Amino acid sequence: MTERSHLTCNIDLTTDGKRSGFLAVPQSTNSAGWAKYFVPISVIRNGEGPTAVLFGGNHGDEYEGPVTLMNLTRELSPEQISGRVILMPMLNHPAVAGGTRLSPIDGVNMNRAFPGSPRDSITGQIAHYVATEILPAADLVIDIHSGGSSMHMLPSVNMHRMENREQMDGMLAAARAWGAPYIFLYADIAGSGLLPTYAESLGKVTLGTEMGSKAQFGVEMLRHSARVRNVLHHAGILKECPNDPGTTEPLVVAAEDEQDYIMSPSSGIYEPFFEIGDAVEAGQAVGQLHSIEHPERDPEKVFAASSGILFTRRSVPLTKQGECLAVITREVKV
Ligand SMILES: [Zn+2]
Repeated sequence: MTERSHLTCNIDLTTDGKRSGFLAVPQSTNSAGWAKYFVPISVIRNGEGPTAVLFGGNHGDEYEGPVTLMNLTRELSPEQISGRVILMPMLNHPAVAGGTRLSPIDGVNMNRAFPGSPRDSITGQIAHYVATEILPAADLVIDIHSGGSSMHMLPSVNMHRMENREQMDGMLAAARAWGAPYIFLYADIAGSGLLPTYAESLGKVTLGTEMGSKAQFGVEMLRHSARVRNVLHHAGILKECPNDPGTTEPLVVAAEDEQDYIMSPSSGIYEPFFEIGDAVEAGQAVGQLHSIEHPERDPEKVFAASSGILFTRRSVPLTKQGECLAVITREVKV
């Protein structure tokens, strides 16, 4: 028999109205032999209609999602919608509270923990509850990310390229409705177990985002993130059009080859030569690495293997070998 989740939810997600509560994750700590860890969850429901599930704080150092979804939770009332909106603004709550990408409790990356298991540590247990109890009921899944502590990003709605044309068209239409400047098709170059990849595998219309970074956090990026309301309207859930269309012709770009993701060949202090949004040619140096032991040595140049738009660059100078320095995208037809 398949083991069920040990998490409990203290609000009813199935009936009309607006409720906020918690998922309770069993834990046993040095200060409390018996304890629960609480992860916030809210639901707004009004009759029959599609279900949208919105996540923020999948990575704890990306605050665009938590702020956007907490604002949305407070602002939305059942009368404004048809169907249901489930919001988890701080999915990896320990990480959001700690300001870290990974959970400080178990060191796990929530966005590598899907579909999780009831026997996992806390992060995988939350992922498992979401994978088995929340995502199957969704028609639309939105997971708001940004570059966090280590990356600057052009503001985008993102997704994988789907084999199922109908699913892909549904995702592209939802992405265009958001009104972000870029739609970014990406590859999983840093592991598996992503929430969006899992939701896509269930056939759901799934959108991720990269809304700037910790250093870009502010009015502009929060405005881009807040246009998630356009997608709820597009899905037939939010009745009134938000009247804030954003970018009506987003640029669709892709980084689907391993070589589009430039990992640092050495450790050192990274000096970028280009800003995000700049055009880069294959063979051009995108930056250079200075030795922290030998200032007299020539810096090591880092070259682009592909041409296109610099979509992402490292946002902190001190770099370890193998860390991502840059991502180069190309405009694509979809
Ligand atoms: Zn993220």
